[in-house]
Parts: sequence; structure tokens; C-alpha cells
Amino acid sequence: MTTYCHKGYFDHGIEDIDPQVHAMLQDEEDRQDHGVELIASENIVSRATLDALGTAMVNKTVEGYPGHRYYGGARHADRLEILAQERAKQLFGCAYANVQPHSGSQANLAVFVAFLKPGDCVLSMDLSAGGHLSHGSSANLTGKWFDIRHYGVREEDGLLDYAQVAALAERHKPKLIICGGSAYPRAIDFARFRQIAEDTGAMMLADMAHFAGLVAGGVHPDPVPHAHVTTATTYKNLRGVRGGLILAPDSGFERKLNSAVFPGVQGSVILNAVAAKAVCLGEALRPEFKAYAQAVLDNARQLSASLMERGLRVVTGGTDTPLLLVDLRPKGLTGAQASDSLDRAGLTCNKNAVPGDTQPPRVTSGLRFGVSAGTTRGFGTAEFEKIGHLIADILAALSAGSSGMEAVEQRCFAQVRKLTQDFPIYGPVK
Ligand SMILES: *Cc1c(COP(=O)(O)O)cnc(C)c1O
Repeated sequence: MTTYCHKGYFDHGIEDIDPQVHAMLQDEEDRQDHGVELIASENIVSRATLDALGTAMVNKTVEGYPGHRYYGGARHADRLEILAQERAKQLFGCAYANVQPHSGSQANLAVFVAFLKPGDCVLSMDLSAGGHLSHGSSANLTGKWFDIRHYGVREEDGLLDYAQVAALAERHKPKLIICGGSAYPRAIDFARFRQIAEDTGAMMLADMAHFAGLVAGGVHPDPVPHAHVTTATTYKNLRGVRGGLILAPDSGFERKLNSAVFPGVQGSVILNAVAAKAVCLGEALRPEFKAYAQAVLDNARQLSASLMERGLRVVTGGTDTPLLLVDLRPKGLTGAQASDSLDRAGLTCNKNAVPGDTQPPRVTSGLRFGVSAGTTRGFGTAEFEKIGHLIADILAALSAGSSGMEAVEQRCFAQVRKLTQDFPIYGPVK
């Protein structure tokens, strides 16, 4: 028999076939296992999700939607995509769900393509106030091809100023108004946004990328009934595979939205990701997920309280979401310097602009912390209180210009090791 494949092509694992890549994957798993992950966009998926990603579904090419594919052999792909859609509809109580977007940015771009023409006006939150690149940042395609106007947050309290949003909508008459962001820690008044959209003849898009799990778990206001369209990511707080979702309360925009995703902005479906989305949505429908969502909220509020207790300025004085922002200006520190030091100490987070920040994006004056990943591995409020103190210790030493910074970081790193050992992630497959 002729073979065009190397030995073990169909049946040997990566460990044998490509030790170089395997070692890097092991290193990353190790890093995740032994660090405290505080990056708000991250989470830890289930073993079942990892399984779904690594299947032969990856080989199948389909374009279009179930029942209307451009290629044959799609019967199982169709069943799978329909299951994922049905689970998304059930979870978020809506009549329309598209599970194909490769990412949250692609989901948002599809909404632009569905409802707008190049040059149309869009009103969204400024990136520096906590918005997202895909909401019309000048560096993103949406910012280059559309006429983007931004609202911000109030410098004094970091909160949305709805009167400003209404005034800007009145002045610019946008076709689309977007709410939701990457670094806004508080619940948004979705009904108010819808009213502003109604008053000015705009469509409303709610982007719940960062708090979709809390919505699914019933512990956060639900944007879906208020917005014409809602987008989400399945990773982050929803605790699944990297990818996007588009939802709508009714199916009135089905054709527009479907054709905007394919063939508007994407080609074939990443079916193994759709399989993993189905798994993630199935997990989110289980009762344990409600408990998870409540724990995320409790933990975020605990971390916020512990940091404030240690004299740190938490933007808006707390949080209603899985994330919170710390303003480092009173400590005389930059976000870059603080996040580098925390990373060396085993606490991974990101630098982030804060309201009124004058530092460039590569430096910033703030830090963003998220609790979704830590909560998944089992941390409760006691652990997050401890983490709050570890963060505060590092920031205090940095702020005091301590000469023994390396020792401080090492001491923290040892504590992080101890903490993570009690909450291991992926063990041997059962
Ligand atoms: C993370 C995020 C997205 C999606 O990001 P991708 O990296 O493209 O998946 C979209 N909107 C908001 C508000 C986000 O925070």
C-alpha cells in the first residue's frame, strides 16, 4: 500500500509526532495551572469543550445555513448547528441566534454590514472610556468606513452619562447606537438606550461580551429584550470556546443578519468551534451555571472591596460585572509598570485606561481585573480577599519605590503557587 502520510499520521498523538509544539502546549498549560488569571477576557473551558474542539468535525467544510448548504455531506453538521442555535435561543430567551461568528469582532462587523452602508453614522462608547475596537475605533475597519461618534463616561465617577448619549444621538442622528464595552464595570440601563434609539430612529446593538454569563445565569440585567440585536462572545464570562454569537428577540432580521455573517463577512463555518459552542451553551443551561454566575458576581465585589479597603481607587467604587478597574494615579503608578510587576508575581492582569487618562494606551494609568477564570477553578470570596491583599502588597511596594521589589514579587509568587496548588485545573483525562 502506498502511503502519502508519515508514520502515525492517523493514530499517533502530538507528543510523538511533534515534540516541539507539544512542549510549548505543555508549558502554557503549566503556566495556567500555576498562575492566578485575572485577565477579564479569559476563562477556563471544560474538558468537554476541549474534546469538542479536537474532533473530525474540523475536517468538514460547509457554507451557508442548515438545510441550505453549498456542499454535500452536511447532515451531521446541520444537526450540530441547529442544536447550538436552539441552545442559544433557550439560554437567552430569544427567537434568533447565529452561532457562526468566528469572534466577537466578526459578530459586530456583521451587524454593521446588516444594517449600515459605508459612511453611515454610528454612536458608541469611546475606547478610552471602556468601549471596544470593533465599535468604531479609528484603528478598526468600522472606524475607517463609518462615521463614528463616541460618548464617554463622567470623569468624576466613571459612570455613563445618559443625557450625553441622548444629546449626541439627537445631534448626529446615528443609524446605530451601541452599548456595552470591555472595561465598563457597571450595569447598563438598556431600556434607556432603547428609548434613546427609538427617539432618534436608530437601531440598538447591545454587546454583552464581558457579562454574557451573568445574563445567562440571571444575575445581571438582560439586554436581549431591549436591543434590536445583541452580540456576545462564547469565551470570557460564558466560559466556552473562542467565538461569537448574534442574538435577536424576534426573527425579523434573520435574513439580513444571516447573510451579513455569510457571505457578508465570513466564509465557511468553523464547525469544531460550533460543536464547542453547543457544549458551552449546554453547560450554561445547567443549574450549576447559575451558581457559577452568582459566585462570579460575589467574587468581583469581594475583590473590589478588598482593594478599596487597602486604599486603592476602584473606578465607580465597585462593580456589577465580572470585571473592575483600578485607577493608579493616586499611587503615582502607571498601568504598564504595575501589570508587569504583578505578572512577575504570578498575578496576570492587564493595564487599562481609566476615565480622564492622559497616558498613552501602551502605558495607561489603570489596571483591569476579572474574576471569571479564578471562579471557574473554584476560588471563592476567601481566595479573592487574599488575592486582593497580594495585589495591594505589590502595588504598595511599587508605590513606595521599594528597592527589594524582586523579593516582594517572589514572596507573592510563592503564595500564588500555594493557592493554585489547592485548585488544580485539567487533571488526567477520566
Ligand atoms: C472581547 C470583546 C469583543 C470580541 O472580541 P474578539 O477578540 O473579536 O472575540 C467584542 N466586544 C467587546 C465589548 C469585547 O469586550
